Order: sequence, then structure tokens, then C-alpha cells
Amino acid sequence: MAERPYIVGNWKMNGTRAMLSEARAIDRAAQRYMKAEVAVAPPYTLIHAVHREAEQIGVGAQDCHAGAEGPHTGDIAASMLADAGAKFVILGHSERRGDHGESNELINAKIDSALEAGLRIILCCGESLDIRDAGKAEDFVLDQLRASLPHIKDPIERLTIAYEPIWAIGTGRTATIEDIKAMHAAIRKLLDETYGEEASSKVRILYGGSVKPENAGEILSTPEVGGALVGGASLSAESFLGIVVAAS
Ligand code: PEP
Repeated sequence: MAERPYIVGNWKMNGTRAMLSEARAIDRAAQRYMKAEVAVAPPYTLIHAVHREAEQIGVGAQDCHAGAEGPHTGDIAASMLADAGAKFVILGHSERRGDHGESNELINAKIDSALEAGLRIILCCGESLDIRDAGKAEDFVLDQLRASLPHIKDPIERLTIAYEPIWAIGTGRTATIEDIKAMHAAIRKLLDETYGEEASSKVRILYGGSVKPENAGEILSTPEVGGALVGGASLSAESFLGIVVAAS
């Protein structure tokens, strides 16, 4: 497994230029806690500014269009994100799937486009509470991944998976350590089967869903948890850095 935990803040639709001070504080602290790889995905409007200010942290985006350019009002191409300084893009987040009806096939096409533009990918997957209660969480998540994972092997180190049970996002409720362990092991098995064990070992599997400084240590020491995708707690440098410290 890749050794350095990857701690990524997803600012979602939050943040104006006033938030740049948080990014600066995160960047300064990340220079002291080098055991973790730290990144943030601000809204599009702040990518370039965060990129210019940040010396240590990675900057990414929260989505991109599947096409390279063209008549898609309001959309953004992966190459534009790269041009603005983004190094990665989060794709398949449950809020994109829910709010915009994104399918696994569309997400797969976006992944191809982002890889083509040289970006790293954080591919999100996760089940709803109904699916978990019906005992189908593992099948559902593995089906999502089978239908959206990139087919090519070469840029495998540019792929990260984030398991985010929908019922744990922004709810304050986290999955149990046993649930996380079982799902991450199932995802690893699928990656081993898809890419071979050596290539699969380069792919980190993050956990996301109400990660905060108080629970980060336990979650991050769970087998096969290679880091965290953090929503709410990434909006203040203080709470986000609490998670970075727990990972260090
Ligand atoms: C997310 O939406 O990626 C997320 C993990 O959110 P939160 O940490 O707020 O649950």
C-alpha cells in the first residue's frame, strides 16, 4: 500500500477569496507535517489563487466535463483545470451523482478526459442508507467501480478511490471501523483483480464521511485506509489540520 496518507479537503460550494487565508494556514502547517500528503479542492473560482499561494499542498477541482472543449455553457474542461493549476479532480462525488444525475458511464468518460489532461483522479463511490440496510452495500459499491474505473493501466498511480457512504456525508455519523475495514478490503480485492496486485498497491483508498479531528486517528489507522476525503471539517484550517496531525 502507498505509505503516505492522503488528506484531501473538499470545500464544495463554499469559499470566496476570504478563504485564501485558510488555504495559506493549511499550506504552512503542511510544510511541518510532511508525513501526510495534503490537498484541497476549492471551488473553481479559487483554484488559480490557491495554486499561486500554495507551496506544499496540492490543489484540485471538484468535477470536470467529459469533453475536451466546445459548446457546453457553464461547464469546465479538465485541460482548463490543469491550466489554472489543478493537479487532481474529484469525480463521481455522491452530490454530483444525486444533484446532476451523473451515471457511472459518464464518470468513466470524465476520468478518461481528466487523465488525458494530466490530472490525478479521486474517484468517489458509496451507498445510500437503504442499500446498506438491505445488505447490498458491497455489491453496489463494487458495481459502481466496475462501471467507472479507467481501463488503462499506465496512469495507475494517478488514481485514488474514495469510499464515502452517502449516509455518513455531512451527517456527523461515521461508518463503523468494521464497516470501513470490510468495504476497503472489498475495494482492494477488486483493484487487485482489475489491475494486478502490483499496480493496485499504488492506488490509495480514502475514507470520507464526517471525518473530524476526534475520529481521524482511529479511521486512518484502519487497514487499507490510505487517507481521508474531508468535507465540512476542511472549511476551517484548525479542524482540517487536526486531521492532518492525526495522520502524521
Ligand atoms: C464529502 O462530501 O466528501 C465529505 C466527506 O463530507 P463530510 O466530511 O462533511 O461528511
